Amino acid sequence: MGYGRIVLKLSGEALAGSGGYGICEDTIDALCREIKALHEMDTEVALVVGGGNIHRGVAKSTERVEKTNSDYMGMLATVINALALQNGLERRHRLETRVLTAISMREVAEPYIKRRAMRHLQKKRVVIFAGGTGNPYFTTDTAAALRANEIGAQAILKATKVDGVYDKDPLADKGAVKFDRLRYIDVLNKNLRVMDATAVSLCMDNGIEIVVFNAFGEGAIRRAVGGELVGTLIGK
Ligand code: UDP
Repeated sequence: MGYGRIVLKLSGEALAGSGGYGICEDTIDALCREIKALHEMDTEVALVVGGGNIHRGVAKSTERVEKTNSDYMGMLATVINALALQNGLERRHRLETRVLTAISMREVAEPYIKRRAMRHLQKKRVVIFAGGTGNPYFTTDTAAALRANEIGAQAILKATKVDGVYDKDPLADKGAVKFDRLRYIDVLNKNLRVMDATAVSLCMDNGIEIVVFNAFGEGAIRRAVGGELVGTLIGK
């Protein structure tokens, strides 16, 4: 059984290609192709985008940049990424999209209003949530969990560069073992660092499943939405 309405969480890094920084047009194009396929499967798709590809350098220099300022810079970075995705989806793939921001900037995008977001989804527009939660001290993973709750999504698909959740860092340790399924409580107790605890708790309270997977395998997003076990499934 697949999902009818999902939140796809793309980190800033997921838009950066191999350089790890900035926006890579080919990478965005590959993601947009997958999103178009979801749209054709009649899945309602909301995207939450991160900002690490633009903001990471700022985050590292927090001695010089005050934390709240740095966080607002991060939130603004997500808006730049959202516009890049919107451009890719509309110009190259002819999808109708709306960017909704948690920090209002009316000349650039619509303010986030839940009822509007729902209406856009019903009209089969791809909704892109930008600006995180609009508050410092949060992450875009928490924004994804918050929006998923608000719009009644069944799952958050968290696109990463590894193919699921491991007991140790698979890049540093060859003996790391992948989990196929995990309970929310295990993620929290084992401190698995898939998502921050706030985001996991929000999903746990309302039974929103989390799929952690490598979004760059051909068809991976489609298979995950279709209900195939791709990556690691976190649930009850
Ligand atoms: N951020 C914030 N509040 C939010 C979401 C994001 O302050 O609700 C800031 C925070 O500084 C964060 C940055 O924006 O580090 C970029 O978001 P995130 O690190 O979640 O992006 P990703 O790692 O997914 O690219």
